[in-house]
Amino acid sequence: YQGKRGAAGIVVYSGDGAGHPHQWLVIQAELRHALEREELILHYQPKVALPGGEVCGVEALVRWQHPQRGLLPPGEFLPAAEHSGLIVPLTEWVLRRALADQVGWAATGKEWTLSVNVSPRNLEVPGFPEFVEELLVASGIPPHRLILEITETALAGDTDEVVRAITELGRYGIGISVDDFGTGYTSLSHLRGLPITEIKIDRAFVADVARDQQSQAIVRSVIELAHGLGSRATAEGVETPEVRRWLAEAGCDEAQGYLFGRPVPWPQISVNEQTAHVE
Ligand code: C2E
Ligand code: CA
Ligand code: CA
Ligand code: CA
Repeated sequence: YQGKRGAAGIVVYSGDGAGHPHQWLVIQAELRHALEREELILHYQPKVALPGGEVCGVEALVRWQHPQRGLLPPGEFLPAAEHSGLIVPLTEWVLRRALADQVGWAATGKEWTLSVNVSPRNLEVPGFPEFVEELLVASGIPPHRLILEITETALAGDTDEVVRAITELGRYGIGISVDDFGTGYTSLSHLRGLPITEIKIDRAFVADVARDQQSQAIVRSVIELAHGLGSRATAEGVETPEVRRWLAEAGCDEAQGYLFGRPVPWPQISVNEQTAHVE
């Protein structure tokens, strides 16, 4: 679902059901309305601690309840949102909505962390750290319970503003996670000096880890890197008990994946919590 720049500099959308620029523009216009009409919804996927499997947090994943096309996954509309800049208000909506839901869990005694995916475009907006801090103060959620996930690719293209925003968010006590680690060709120097609290190992390496030696070597070194930086290592895309066992033995701190629970609307999370304990 990647937007590609054509010869004339025009962005061509190549996702499902959106074959040409006209449709890309339609999506942008519709998305603007979707934000106003509250057609976006959040699903939450549990994150568990290894080796025990207790739920320790949730990740918010956005979906679009489209009036004609049904429930759309983020791959169908986030590229258009990134390109148009609508990702900025979209992320702000996700943060508000997710923190409001988090207040509900906190009331039931759940000390879960909340992970939210953030675009580098948000980090470039002046005042973004203050915006997040104000939301936290208003919701009464302690800063360390919020984790902002930034993809490794976004960090690779970092600007001074992005570094400044991450530093400020970290100073305030908010968790900073490097998402999709291993796919972004980041020179490791990009990580230096940033207040990183978590590295999320991309699904591409995790999937094969029970049988492929090269994936094992990569995952082991990312776990070691995370620990060396004083951060947690989290594996995404854990689908089988074999992979879970291997990760636990390798010292991976946390895991996420269909084995523990799929992304679901938040009232269903407590049901998932039970399955997460089952091997
Ligand atoms: P991500 O942050 O890497 O999120 C994990 C994706 O992997 C999710 O897809 C999730 O449903 C899927 N997944 C989780 N466990 C498994 C598993 O065991 N096996 C497999 N095959 N897949 C698994 P989803 O929800 O379609 O999200 C796709 C991407 O869209 C996310 O990747 C993230 O980069 C982006 N995204 C989602 N929500 C937001 C948001 O609110 N803001 C921003 N900026 N990006 C978002
Ligand atoms: Ca993520
Ligand atoms: Ca990820
Ligand atoms: Ca991913």
